[in-house]
Amino acid sequence: MSDFLLELKDVRQSYGDGDGAVHVLKGAGLAVSRGELVALVAPSGAGKSTLLHICGLLERPRGGEVAILGQSTARLSDRQRTLMRRHSIGYVYQFHHLLPEFSAIENVVMPQLIAGKSDRAAKERSMELLEVMGIGHRAEHRPAELSGGEQQRVAIARATANNPSLVLADEPTGNLDPATSERVFAALSQLIREHDAGCIIATHNHDLARRADRIVTIADGHIEPMTL
Ligand code: ADP
Repeated sequence: MSDFLLELKDVRQSYGDGDGAVHVLKGAGLAVSRGELVALVAPSGAGKSTLLHICGLLERPRGGEVAILGQSTARLSDRQRTLMRRHSIGYVYQFHHLLPEFSAIENVVMPQLIAGKSDRAAKERSMELLEVMGIGHRAEHRPAELSGGEQQRVAIARATANNPSLVLADEPTGNLDPATSERVFAALSQLIREHDAGCIIATHNHDLARRADRIVTIADGHIEPMTL
């Protein structure tokens, strides 16, 4: 069993068949340790979202191995994958995907209730996270009443509410101004380090990428180290 939080070996993914097939990943390999924040920087269309979907068990690769917490995921049923996602993985999307009818705190409470936590414990934890994100005073507001940066911070609180071992963030600061991007990144990296989780953050922001523990790129379907 490996000590890595996440380990990808020879991962292959393509879309379509025959001459029209798009080969996105052609034997990608990556290992992420506990407490490690890895920045993924690559041009649009290189396969960042594909890679994150595969790491997040949202998509099955056509070939290769994905192991999470030392457990191979290839033979897991859809139900087992869903449970693993629920307990071990937090996903932050580029567009926050918050539920518009619910307040910020309710959005953070919900995944905890699904995971079986009591209402009171879930609320306490949510408030704590919103405070860490610097938006405790916005807890009762609905997403539409929040700025882009505030919405994204709620999304990070939601993704990390169940203390996932692995956080996957797909350009979480893509639509934010530099100062807000900075705050969102700082909040995310603080949560990762506090919980000794691991994180892959896909970003176009080189300043933020440089502050990760390591930078990787996707070049011709392979993952390679990168220096910026
Ligand atoms: P990035 O996130 O780096 O912009 P993506 O992973 O979204 O890249 O996409 C990589 C390539 O795979 C693109 O050419 C994209 O059009 C293609 N692609 C991604 N998902 C699908 C899909 N479900 N069906 C067909 N093609 C896809």
